[in-house]
Amino acid sequence: MTKNILLTNARLFRANDDSLIDDGTVLIKDNMIRYSGPTKDFKDNSTDLFPVDLNGQFLMPGMTESHAHLSYSNNGPTELEKTPVEEAMLNSMDNARVMLGSGFTSAIGFGSVHRIDVFLRDAIKNGQIPGPRLKASGRDLGSTGSNADLTPDYARPDIDGLGMFCDGPYEVRRGVRSMAKNRVDVVKIFLDGECMCDHAQPGQLTYTDEEVAAAVDEAHKRNMKVACHSRSAAAVKQAVIHGVDYIGHANYLDDEALDLLRKNKDRVFVGPAIAWELKFMEDPYCLGFAPTQKQIEAYAKEVEATISSVKKMKSVGVRVLVGGDYGLNVTPHGTYAKDLEYFVRLFGMTSSEALLCATRDGGAAFDSSGMLGTLEEGKLADLLIINGNPLEDITVLQNHDQITAVVKDGIVHQNLVGDSPYIQNDLAKLSQEADTITRKTSKGKPFLEKVI
Ligand SMILES: [Zn+2]
Repeated sequence: MTKNILLTNARLFRANDDSLIDDGTVLIKDNMIRYSGPTKDFKDNSTDLFPVDLNGQFLMPGMTESHAHLSYSNNGPTELEKTPVEEAMLNSMDNARVMLGSGFTSAIGFGSVHRIDVFLRDAIKNGQIPGPRLKASGRDLGSTGSNADLTPDYARPDIDGLGMFCDGPYEVRRGVRSMAKNRVDVVKIFLDGECMCDHAQPGQLTYTDEEVAAAVDEAHKRNMKVACHSRSAAAVKQAVIHGVDYIGHANYLDDEALDLLRKNKDRVFVGPAIAWELKFMEDPYCLGFAPTQKQIEAYAKEVEATISSVKKMKSVGVRVLVGGDYGLNVTPHGTYAKDLEYFVRLFGMTSSEALLCATRDGGAAFDSSGMLGTLEEGKLADLLIINGNPLEDITVLQNHDQITAVVKDGIVHQNLVGDSPYIQNDLAKLSQEADTITRKTSKGKPFLEKVI
């Protein structure tokens, strides 16, 4: 029989506002939160409560990686299709474990190599492998000559890979329909270019209004969400006007784009995702090829513009999400929580504001029915126990050793990342020793199971 689990003596950040409860209690039954608040207000005299004393550790909701590329194998941006699909699939299983172990209990796919996201989502859902609750993305949908279409025609590989090229509204509909057939949750579409991409720069719209409208209409009819790559104000406007759900980047905003975002702030989410650009600024040769001086200067300007744009969006109440483009050689899997540091250091947010972006707002982006992102009665039990205080130092979330446990759907995961034995169990075993056997995961990490 499942017991009701009582987490006591917690510094509790519920993420329904920016407050911290010094002596907090959370009651979990099965996979749901049944109480979350001050210990002094908790009244339940049931005899079947299993208490776990957190000794003052920090308790917060699980975070959402809002621009996830779990199928990327920590390679350079032009090498994404070079990992064989079999190896990429295995890597993605490791990446899912690492993402969950990094405190991200949910992830919104923003483009997947081959059809990996879909199969990964199912394996996680079925309990075959540990990983975040995943909205599976499809391949990158773009026009011929868009930023999704990077390989010259003479070198085009004979595999599906990452880019899917569709031109014209009817072909775009066919592309989206094929994603529906392949059980994708999120259609990723490229609306403009990239400073690195000579044939499609930011501001150069690579789809017409008709094509974008067709993609969104077809996706929404089939209960899929739409995520986009939009760096320029023009591409952001196109995204908002045609009903895109998740806008990636939004580096450059004019007054009209900001106003459109403000008017649609209840339904649209924006994720700046500039982690790799910051690494590129530190070392322009880090991606594995030599950029031109013009490109280096363009990215420096883009980072400056992004800082200004995020501040503007925050001032008008647009929800800005954490995460983005981790899984490249310069932004390896496991470093996702660096984004919260960027939110504080670059975008001028307080630590609690950055936490709210990662939890409350990310949860709302993932699940509009409101089951995720805060620790409140009636929500799913996705939470993190942290040995440290992210409100005082947001970087503690980057240290996997300080993540005592990650709870997803009421299941406790400990030591998902690092050298200690991985343990998955129900909450009743959180503070109990379990007899274990050891087997190995794909990268040799010890994997412990309870002896039955
Ligand atoms: Zn991306």
